[in-house]
Amino acid sequence: MSSAKNITQINGAVNGKTVAILGGVHGNEFCGVKAIDYLRTHLRLDSGTVYLIYGNPLAIENGVRFTEMNLNRAFKEDRNLTDSEKNSYERKRALEIIPYLEQCDAVLDIHSSNSLTSTPFVICEQKSFFIAERMPFSIRSYGWDSIEPGGTDYFINKRGGYGICIECGSNNDPNAYDLALNAVDIFLLTLGLKKGKLPPINKKQKEVLAKSIYITKKNFKLAQQFSDFEKLSKNQLIGYDGDKEIFAESNDVIIVFARNRANPQEEAFILGRTK
Ligand SMILES: [Zn+2]
Repeated sequence: MSSAKNITQINGAVNGKTVAILGGVHGNEFCGVKAIDYLRTHLRLDSGTVYLIYGNPLAIENGVRFTEMNLNRAFKEDRNLTDSEKNSYERKRALEIIPYLEQCDAVLDIHSSNSLTSTPFVICEQKSFFIAERMPFSIRSYGWDSIEPGGTDYFINKRGGYGICIECGSNNDPNAYDLALNAVDIFLLTLGLKKGKLPPINKKQKEVLAKSIYITKKNFKLAQQFSDFEKLSKNQLIGYDGDKEIFAESNDVIIVFARNRANPQEEAFILGRTK
């Protein structure tokens, strides 16, 4: 085991795939941070290499989501970042992490939610379904790379690898941590870094295509609280952008990550469709 830059390298006895597991890309999501703490001392591999990465050390230390920009949007090309984003702590941290990701065949990025109740789900593109479909999440959601680029999963997907982001539910739910460690196991088993019996395909897992993201023009106030993956009805009021009412346009739409926002150009919510 070797450690530097809040990144720990663990090797199996023989060669195999190289993967990264991240926690704390959002510093206040301590489920993933706890998972990395545990894995640093307990993870044993049969083959290959794992990089265990504390995503955003400064935000973790301060218990905040991020300090200057969302690290989960900082793994983009320079030309797609503003000058202030390029100079941010998070972009510098992304540039520290990128050389490790460049060696990886796959990435598992562990997130959780600060809302009191939250449905756990997995985000990945269709090419990674062979890993996600065995994980104990009721929903797998794809289509995010085009509407929300810049995470570690986006970065690895573009390089031809397998990027998976797991949302393990509420930070306060003790199951979130168990779910994260369970998903890590399945990730490593499926990719052959650990030997053992794979759990069967989770046939109850539903697919949700993320279709669009709403970016604020002024500021955004939700008309009500929405749970992730809540179904909307046609013409249902979602919220107000400044004074403008924003409605759901059709019946078969679900909403994810709906948040009040104070400023223009912020991400207010995502709309998707169940398959
Ligand atoms: Zn997060």
